[in-house]
Amino acid sequence: MRERVWLGRCPDYDGEALFEKISGAFEALGVYDSIKPGMTVVLKPNLIQSSKPQAAICTHPAFTQAVGKCVQRAGGKVLIAESPGGPYSPAVMKAFFRNCGYTDMAESCGFSLYTDCKSREVSLPEGERCRRVSIVEPFLERDFLIDLPKLKTHCMVGYSGAVKNMFGAVPGLQKPELHCRFPEKEDFSKALVDICAFLRPDFSLMDGVWAMEGDGPTGGLRRDIGFIGASRSPYALDVCMAGLLGFPEGSLPMLAESARRGLGPKSFTETELLGESPEGLQVADFKRARASSTDFIDRLPGFLRPAAKKLSTPYPRVQKKGCVGCGKCAESCPQKAISMEGGRAVISYKACIRCFCCHEMCPRHVVGVKRLGLFQW
Ligand code: SF4
Ligand code: SF4
Repeated sequence: MRERVWLGRCPDYDGEALFEKISGAFEALGVYDSIKPGMTVVLKPNLIQSSKPQAAICTHPAFTQAVGKCVQRAGGKVLIAESPGGPYSPAVMKAFFRNCGYTDMAESCGFSLYTDCKSREVSLPEGERCRRVSIVEPFLERDFLIDLPKLKTHCMVGYSGAVKNMFGAVPGLQKPELHCRFPEKEDFSKALVDICAFLRPDFSLMDGVWAMEGDGPTGGLRRDIGFIGASRSPYALDVCMAGLLGFPEGSLPMLAESARRGLGPKSFTETELLGESPEGLQVADFKRARASSTDFIDRLPGFLRPAAKKLSTPYPRVQKKGCVGCGKCAESCPQKAISMEGGRAVISYKACIRCFCCHEMCPRHVVGVKRLGLFQW
């Protein structure tokens, strides 16, 4: 059976219009019927970095609010849970929720915010790369899980959507450990699919009202795309969204891997589209992140590829002028490749595995993504 993906236009985060739109997705995909009164419904937004909604780094609080109200309409209890990339503690989470605009929103709507920060190690019997991992408790104990990704590019894996958003269920500094275990983007993408397949979100809704293009997931530019996507399958949703943004079929290892395992479709032509017509929703000029491999390298003779790949792989570079020496990049680095010298971050490229956690976590956005001049395109 074809997976169903619902698409809708939504030019801004206006409360009533947004609620009606999202409610339409709940209706079309049978979600109102699946949520029973009294169920605990966990909402998993993307709150990767403590930032204001206007920056388009995190799932907008108005978007999460509209989803939560739909859950309440069905009689469910809303619990919002997330673990960003750095240290994971009750104080950190309270500050994150406050800075991202979630605290007042949750209080006014009667939603709970998860700040206990408890996690458990679990085994992933069907994992192909990742067989054991820690997961934040509400994601294991929920009655129903709603995945609320932000539509963004991603420097390491190309695109950050519904499948990648489930990585946030891994507590704080254990994320860099996984980067360390799987430094190549292909292996890391497989581990992301392992985690998403284990967690099995029941419903995914993508906030593409304000998206991010360029060097996402935190250092790119906001692009007001004005659309929302939804599906019971995170894989089908990602394939559709990536297709609308012009990513060629099979070019994103995470989605190619999902299709290989039979979890999702290869192309959005294999899905059943509901809601509004995709006509006019395509964003062909959406700027990509400076990704770590290219078609050009794949076409070189085999013996040249390792050297070309090494030379062409982008690397992080700290702009000394803007660095305030806060150390957040060093905290998130899985290789301990960053030291603080003279109050500024310094990267040891010998140890660096190009995971771009430092780029993601720098609150000043001064860790850039660079490529050798010969390989600039
Ligand atoms: S320096 Fe940055 S890109 Fe390199 S390993 Fe550390 S966090 Fe990853
Ligand atoms: S590079 Fe960014 S995260 Fe690292 S110390 Fe400087 S300001 Fe802080």
